[in-house]
Amino acid sequence: MPSAPLVDVVIDRVAAGLDRPFTYRRPDAWAAVGPGWRVLVPFGRSQAAGLVVAEHEGPTAGPVKDLLRPLDPYPLLPPDLVAVAVWMRDRWGCLLPQALRAAVPAPVRHMPAPDPPWLYAGAEPTRGSERRRLWTYLAERGGATREEALAATGVSPAVLRAMETAGQVRRGVPPRPPLPPPSTRLTPDQERAVAAILAQLDTGGEVLVEGVTGSGKTEVYLAAVAATLARGRQAIVLVPEIALTPQMQARFEQRFPGRVAVFHSAMADGVRVREWHRVRTGEAEVVLGARSAVFAPCPRLGLVVVDEEHEPTYKQDEHPRYHAREVARERARRVGAVLVLGSATPSLETAWAARTGQVAWVRLRKRVGGRPLARAEVVDMRAELKAGHREMFSRALKDAVAECLAAGDQAILLLNRRGFSTSVVCRACGQPRMCPRCAVSLTLHATERRLLCHYCLHEEPVPTVCPACGSPQIRQFGVGTERVVEEVRRLWPDARVLRADADSLRRRGSHRRLFEAFLARRADVLVGTQVIAKGLHWPGVTLVGVVAADLGLTLPDFRAAERTFALLTQAAGRAGRGDRPGRVIIQTYNPEHYSVAAAARQDFDAFYAEELGFRELLGYPPFGHLLLVEAADEDPARAAAEAERARTVLAGRSGLVLLGPAPAPLARLRGRWRMHLLVKARELVLVLDAARALLDDNPRLSLTVDPYHLL
Ligand code: ADP
Ligand code: ZN
Ligand code: ZN
Repeated sequence: MPSAPLVDVVIDRVAAGLDRPFTYRRPDAWAAVGPGWRVLVPFGRSQAAGLVVAEHEGPTAGPVKDLLRPLDPYPLLPPDLVAVAVWMRDRWGCLLPQALRAAVPAPVRHMPAPDPPWLYAGAEPTRGSERRRLWTYLAERGGATREEALAATGVSPAVLRAMETAGQVRRGVPPRPPLPPPSTRLTPDQERAVAAILAQLDTGGEVLVEGVTGSGKTEVYLAAVAATLARGRQAIVLVPEIALTPQMQARFEQRFPGRVAVFHSAMADGVRVREWHRVRTGEAEVVLGARSAVFAPCPRLGLVVVDEEHEPTYKQDEHPRYHAREVARERARRVGAVLVLGSATPSLETAWAARTGQVAWVRLRKRVGGRPLARAEVVDMRAELKAGHREMFSRALKDAVAECLAAGDQAILLLNRRGFSTSVVCRACGQPRMCPRCAVSLTLHATERRLLCHYCLHEEPVPTVCPACGSPQIRQFGVGTERVVEEVRRLWPDARVLRADADSLRRRGSHRRLFEAFLARRADVLVGTQVIAKGLHWPGVTLVGVVAADLGLTLPDFRAAERTFALLTQAAGRAGRGDRPGRVIIQTYNPEHYSVAAAARQDFDAFYAEELGFRELLGYPPFGHLLLVEAADEDPARAAAEAERARTVLAGRSGLVLLGPAPAPLARLRGRWRMHLLVKARELVLVLDAARALLDDNPRLSLTVDPYHLL
């Protein structure tokens, strides 16, 4: 058998049959083509674009076709990113083309690489006065933009093109301005955190920087990035939502002028392609962006920061359903980079890794400048009710808002989540009606007047008296942001109110406008859901009221306590960031719930001990893996049948716990009925095997490995 240079190519089309590489011969003319190159290949009776994932020399068993040509002037992906994409297929159970598409966004696939913007003098021209004039201009100034050079010398574009062809003018990246010296002196706590990161910068490793809001984490990231750049490597900084972090972006651009590329979803395609190639060529050394920026094609990655690493937005809901923190860890591992995880309220996965010594762990317990953390007062809404107060705002919260407005300060009023409320809570004892088997709250199906567990299918009639305390004050629980706004308007007609929730913020740019308006004090009260609890500095805010801390606790989701703890802790961090101390009031029907009580006391260790115990007992992450199986169809009977069949496919496999199938909490979405089957296993490999078996049986199933939302 003849031996030949071969490349393995993944065809850029999402189809189950294309979930593998195809082998082609590499003609000598394209000897440079290897992993990471996009190529055109013959495929079937036509041609297709694909990405090279491997190269090898080998005997060719059968006839092998030649690849036709590369599609770009350089490999789009650095080799480590190709390997990460292949890894994603097995980690998240997606198709290879889907994984590669995540790494090479559509506009980059569809638009050519832009020329580098800067012109430099190349080989010296010996003839032609125009040519000599342009060459001398570039040589003397050490380069210029095309526009500058043509305007200053009067040379025609045609001559410039000829000089580029002759190598007398080179394209290149603009020279970078020198880095300004750091303007802040780090506190001893920050120094410790930076030292922990630098200690691993040459070997690779992982550091958790656990710091309360305002403890100076961002300043730590800036110092770590500066050290990375000084070693000639690049850094990626991930934030949960780029629109929420205009202040963060400004700080990075100020500290690293000309070196930052920003990736976000609202960018025009042309800008995105330009930024992407700036990173690919190494011109931009710092990437700031949301989830998908974890795939920034850095050729010399040295540091990845995942800020607010506990945020659910790092999990992608669409295929490939990756988690950016895990992808970041895998990338860092492959290139010997450091992964820095930052949070005031780390995920249980990360908290566990820190407590078992799998990651270095630095805690920043104090705010910079000794500014005090806000006091949190818990208002027991059951007691309010007993005292005859049935309003949305307790007496304490009403007084506090009135005081805050009278002083000319700003207030934030928070709900634990938006809209849809489907649980039943006793207003006398505060207990949501829970599933006796699953430790999640039961969901109300109003039409049938029944409560249902969405995991094990436990079902019961809606009680008329509370099974826990006998009170008849048991009812459907629900408050939306609109109702809070109405109540504020009723009580304080002169107050200027803004509302922010996922619905009102859907339009592009509306985040930034809203936050700027509140920052500029064009409103007195901001009402919203968790979207407003994130890391922004609002010096005018002296009061944060959590109107209903329990709403999230009643979600049928094992992460409910984690989310509630994070929200309440973050909310407390919003008050009193200026020069005055703040006040936090948490209204709850569950003052004893450990997530509420621990957040109010800022007792992190107590919360993590309790929650880790619960997770371990029930085999939830980090003590196990999950697979969420969804069957959806316009015909509810068909969805149910497919879900039932999925259960049959898995029945009898050892090591799996099967919960359901049952109607999804959002039982009908966009006209399709949704059935869920939840698979639990201690080992990831069991979950992945189950996923393959299910897809082989029925490719219509939608599978999520390690889901973040069980809705
Ligand atoms: P976090 O990211 O933990 O919320 P930041 O890094 O944003 O904290 O710091 C909070 C505030 O304190 C910011 O206004 C920041 O400029 C300031 N700050 C941080 N570190 C220092 C320092 N070492 N000296 C002076 N001010 C600092
Ligand atoms: Zn009760
Ligand atoms: Zn149950």
